[in-house]
Amino acid sequence: MRRPRRQRASLIERAAHVAQRYNGDLRAHAIGAIAIRRDGTLVYARNGSSRMPEPEAHAECRVLRKAGWGAEIFVARMRKDGSIGLAKPCEYCQAALLVMGASVWYSDDEGSVVRL
Ligand SMILES: [Zn+2]
Repeated sequence: MRRPRRQRASLIERAAHVAQRYNGDLRAHAIGAIAIRRDGTLVYARNGSSRMPEPEAHAECRVLRKAGWGAEIFVARMRKDGSIGLAKPCEYCQAALLVMGASVWYSDDEGSVVRL
């Protein structure tokens, strides 16, 4: 089932706020991710500390571990000015997402929602 555009935009906005909620200290890379599991429940993750090994600390990988196979995943960046920015998953995360059968949407530079 394909989600309506407005619902995708709203999920991207929520993902951006997941990043913001934990990043009041204006971190450089405030990325948040929301996954809708196959049973319909939601799980959330944000980027880990920069001291953690990359890219296991990336929000997409962290949410993927909670979500399991076949989830729908929304990834967004919250900029310091509160706008939504580019959150395209890196190649490592893309491979992990693919292997786990995820369908992925992310925010582009204009804050629009793009399918991976
Ligand atoms: Zn990554």
